[in-house]
Amino acid sequence: MEDYPRPRLVVSRCLGFESCRYNDQMVRDPFVAELSNYADCITPCPEVDIGLGVPRFPVRLVRSEDELRLLQSESEKDCTEEMITFAESFLEKNAPFDGFILKHRSPSCGQKEVKIYPQLGKVAPIDKGPGIFTREIKEEYPNLPLEDEGRLKNYRIRYRFYSRIFTLARFREVKDTQDMKYLVRFQARHKFLLLAYDEQGTRELGRIAANQEGLPVEEVLDKYEAKLRETLVGQSTRKTNINVIMHMAGYFSETNSKREKDYLEESMELYREGRIPLSSVLSIIHTWALRDQNDYLLNQYYLSPFPQDLLELKDSGRQIDL
Ligand code: SF4
Repeated sequence: MEDYPRPRLVVSRCLGFESCRYNDQMVRDPFVAELSNYADCITPCPEVDIGLGVPRFPVRLVRSEDELRLLQSESEKDCTEEMITFAESFLEKNAPFDGFILKHRSPSCGQKEVKIYPQLGKVAPIDKGPGIFTREIKEEYPNLPLEDEGRLKNYRIRYRFYSRIFTLARFREVKDTQDMKYLVRFQARHKFLLLAYDEQGTRELGRIAANQEGLPVEEVLDKYEAKLRETLVGQSTRKTNINVIMHMAGYFSETNSKREKDYLEESMELYREGRIPLSSVLSIIHTWALRDQNDYLLNQYYLSPFPQDLLELKDSGRQIDL
């Protein structure tokens, strides 16, 4: 059984940790609740943490003269500068991070669909964008996984998010060792997972890990970390995953019967059509690797990128290519 490190996640406090919303409520999210058993969650409530109480008048994003402000209704308090200062100091004090789950549509925490108004009062929104706290996170960590609890209801988005945060947590363990041998092992064990995201990025990561220039370990690890984050931003789609699976299937070309090969072909077709999840096709490869005692494949995190207990097939039904 694989031992998984615990990703360090920033999660909006109102997502099941405390009743800190403006109306003294919280949002119970089953995926966040389950994930928090496997991750170390740091749970800010930016609005409470800058001194707005619970309950409180709601805040909203207002665009005036091309500047985005965070204003509180009724009191008309401008919280913009306090929020930016809080975000900067929070990020500095609590790093490192492997990812972020932030509350959908909140003027502070929302990741992109927050309504922007021309002023306070009864007026229609004029635009949408990220909340102020999240905007600061995106600027500081553009390549780290960031989702809201709404998007995580989609199975494919969740699968991708979990794969990325657990991979980044594994890399953090490697970085802590400051030992090249663990970096080389990390690269080898993530080869197929990375290939599904970005082939060119994977090759570049291989070059960095090989360290032909003989750079100091610290420098190599910093370069590798930046490239790893960038590579994992790549789109892992059905097409890229099928390429990887076909590559892995090549290891069984001698041992598999025609019927077994046909079975994999049919399963890949179902996956291509979006009728079965990636994990179903991967379990075929996994079974064959166990049968043939192919340790190289069995050691690939692509087959099991995060704890199996998190593999919940429930889906919002929105079709996203992965
Ligand atoms: S969305 Fe963010 S600021 Fe609003 S209650 Fe939740 S944690 Fe606090």
